[in-house]
Amino acid sequence: MYVCDLRHFLDLPSDGPAPARNLADQLGEIVRAATAGDPGAAWVSALPCRRRPGRSRCPGRIVVFRSELPAQIEWGCDSCADEGVITGWEGTHFDLREPHPGQHPGASHEVLVSDEVAAALRTLRLLDLECERLVYRSIALGDGVALPADEERLDELVGYLAAEANHVPSRRRQQRLDRALAELSSALREMGA
Ligand SMILES: [Zn+2]
Repeated sequence: MYVCDLRHFLDLPSDGPAPARNLADQLGEIVRAATAGDPGAAWVSALPCRRRPGRSRCPGRIVVFRSELPAQIEWGCDSCADEGVITGWEGTHFDLREPHPGQHPGASHEVLVSDEVAAALRTLRLLDLECERLVYRSIALGDGVALPADEERLDELVGYLAAEANHVPSRRRQQRLDRALAELSSALREMGA
């Protein structure tokens, strides 16, 4: 079991070695998911496994389990043997824990979206904390992802997506955000119908 302290990854220089930065990215994403969800039970997050055995992508998703005492996060791929334990994440900017645990505004509904939309939402940098939590609390469901959002939250997410899609310098990223925006907007119309 691979145990690591997140604090050792926080100050990696942006021109540091790529494998270390990729690992730091992955650990940060896992901490966001595990802290956005409730502690004490394992659940399958929307995060894809990043391993590429034999150069083809592992199809697995990351299962997370967070305990409060001690404060640690166990994670593992539901397809391959990749797994680990993360400590030292409390109080870092990846820590998305709610001030009032167990309350999830808007979580009475869920919207099924594609993996591509879920991945695009995770790249947004301007989300408020509540929206960020719901993006990371998303659960893998079949081929897609269940986003725990009611109409009001979905509308907020569409707004953030639209704002960021308008301001990205990269054409490729803009197209990706535009596709996600089209899919989420149509989900929102269906919800309101
Ligand atoms: Zn895997």
